[in-house]
Amino acid sequence: MNLSEINSQFPYIFTAMFFCIGACVGSFLNVCILRIPAGRSIVTPPSHCACGRPIKWHDNIPVLGWLFLRGKARCCGRKISIRYPAVELLTALVFTGMWLLFPAPVAIVGMVFAALMIFCTFVDLDTMMLPDFATVGGTILGFIISVAVPQLHGAEIPDAPWLASAVKSAICSGLGIIVGSGVVYWIRLLGEHVFKREAMGEGDIILLGCIGAFCGWQGALFAIFAGSMLGAVVMIPIVLATGMFSKKKEAKKKSYGGEEEEFDATAIPFGPWLALGGLLYFMLFSGMTDAYFASVAKMLF
Ligand SMILES: [Zn+2]
Repeated sequence: MNLSEINSQFPYIFTAMFFCIGACVGSFLNVCILRIPAGRSIVTPPSHCACGRPIKWHDNIPVLGWLFLRGKARCCGRKISIRYPAVELLTALVFTGMWLLFPAPVAIVGMVFAALMIFCTFVDLDTMMLPDFATVGGTILGFIISVAVPQLHGAEIPDAPWLASAVKSAICSGLGIIVGSGVVYWIRLLGEHVFKREAMGEGDIILLGCIGAFCGWQGALFAIFAGSMLGAVVMIPIVLATGMFSKKKEAKKKSYGGEEEEFDATAIPFGPWLALGGLLYFMLFSGMTDAYFASVAKMLF
């Protein structure tokens, strides 16, 4: 029996499998989010509690471990942040969604893209920075994957040699990188001149380039518009209602203590909103957005 026969006979097997894989990847992302910005190894030491004692494997099962322990460490009763199971559950749900929405190769690429976006989101929330290896590395990875999986950009040409599809897909990805990073670059220039403040950082430029590499130029444009709108709708009331935001950022800066880079204490990380916009495009809005841009192009030319 081959894989597609298994899939048609037991339709829930792969869905359940990708939910579990997603939860485990989410658990690994938690480790990366915590350790990479602090410059620590993601391999050693193995998971341990804040009190230093190792965590038993059964307490470390994604989502369930936290639920069984009711959010308190077994060894010392320390509170375990709900963010850990939340990231695991989020990753699990997104992976499941990718599997249900797309043909297998595109679904797998979607999972890689989602893991990257979730990592960038939480690192940016914690540190107000996006590590180059994730954004630059993600852009290169997105381009290479585009060449290997032309389906990602709907670029497969039937009855043509494989190379033709690969080149077409590479062009889609390359355009996405150029448009994505270009748009943020111009918005940044505008922000500096009109509002006399840095609207977006360098990390955001490369992040949107990375989103473009996976999603094409339509996805990059969607991510910045949807991300800005969602960000404004959610953040403006919060910033207006509480002055707590600026204090929180100061505290975070001290806790990481490393690079002394000046940043605006009232700045809001934009990366998470771009990442959310990119994921929404990939999973739900690509058909609608591409059709919209096509109709605009038809009207103009
Ligand atoms: Zn402990």
